[in-house]
Amino acid sequence: MNIKHYIGIDIGGTSTTVGLVSKAGKIVDRSIILIQDYASGPIEPFLDAMADAITELSEKHQVEISGIGIGAPNGNFYRGTIEYAPNMPWKDVHEVAPYLENKLGIRSVLTNDANAAAIGEKQFGVAKDFDDFILITLGTGLGSGIVAGGNVIYGHDGFAGELGHAIVVPDGRNCTCGRKGCLEAYVSIRGLLETYHELADDKVNTPQDIAAKAQAGDPNAIETFRKTGEWLGLKLADAATYTSPEAIIFFGGIAQSSDLFFPALKETLETNVHNLYRNKIKILKSGLPLNDAAVLGSTALVM
Ligand SMILES: [Zn+2]
Repeated sequence: MNIKHYIGIDIGGTSTTVGLVSKAGKIVDRSIILIQDYASGPIEPFLDAMADAITELSEKHQVEISGIGIGAPNGNFYRGTIEYAPNMPWKDVHEVAPYLENKLGIRSVLTNDANAAAIGEKQFGVAKDFDDFILITLGTGLGSGIVAGGNVIYGHDGFAGELGHAIVVPDGRNCTCGRKGCLEAYVSIRGLLETYHELADDKVNTPQDIAAKAQAGDPNAIETFRKTGEWLGLKLADAATYTSPEAIIFFGGIAQSSDLFFPALKETLETNVHNLYRNKIKILKSGLPLNDAAVLGSTALVM
C-alpha cells in the first residue's frame, strides 16, 4: 500500500466518474455512478457512493491515495462546493470536497469542470507550454477556464470566467441562467440545434447529425456552423482583450467538428479583435482524449 496514486472525479449531469490515476497521469481504473440512482433523495448518499468507490479502487489496486481532485458544474474552488447547478438534481449550495475530506481523511480539492479541463490541458495536453490561455468546453453548455500567468483565474468569489454567459445578442435567445442573449444560448448543443432549426425545416437531434449534413454539403448545416463560429469569434475577440491569451483551446463533442466552425471563428476574431492582439492567438483543439480529459483535469488539480 505504498505506491501513491490520485483520484480524479468528474461530476456530470447524468453520471459521475471516479478515476484512479497514477502519478504519470495514466487512468488505471474507473468507477461510474449514475446520478439517477440518487436524484430523488438528499445529496449525502451520492457523496457516500463516491467515498465507497474511492475506497474500493484503493483496496482493489493496493494503492495509497495522495489526494482527491473534483471537477463539477458550478463548482467553487474556494469553498469546495457545488452551488446552484442547473443540471444537477440538488439545488442550492452543497459541500462536496469538505465532506469527502472529513469522511476519508484525504486532501480533497474541487473546482468548476471547465477550470479542471484547463488545468488538465496544462498538465497533460496541448497547453503544456502555455501560461496564458483560455479553454472553452462545448457541450450541454459553454464552459470556460481562463489561465493567466500559469494560474486559473477564480475571481474574488470563485466563479470568474463564465464566458458562456457573456451577452452576444442583446435581448436575444433565452438562456438557462434566466437572462437573454448569452453566448451559451447560441454556442452549445442546444444552441446549435436551435440555430439549425431556425434555418431548416427538417428535424435533427444532435450536433453530430448537423455535422454529418454539413460534411455532405447541406447549406443550412454549413451555415449553422458558420454562424456558430461567428458568435464565438465575436465574444472571444472581447475575451482576448482581458488576458491576452497565447491560445484558445476547444474541448468537448462539438469541438470534434472544428473544421466546420474554426474558419468563421478565426475570421471573425481577427476582424474584430484590437490590433494589439491580431494574428497572435492560436486556435487549437484539445490534446486530451474526450473520455479521459475531465478525470485527468480533476486529478491535475490536486497533484
Ligand atoms: Zn446565461
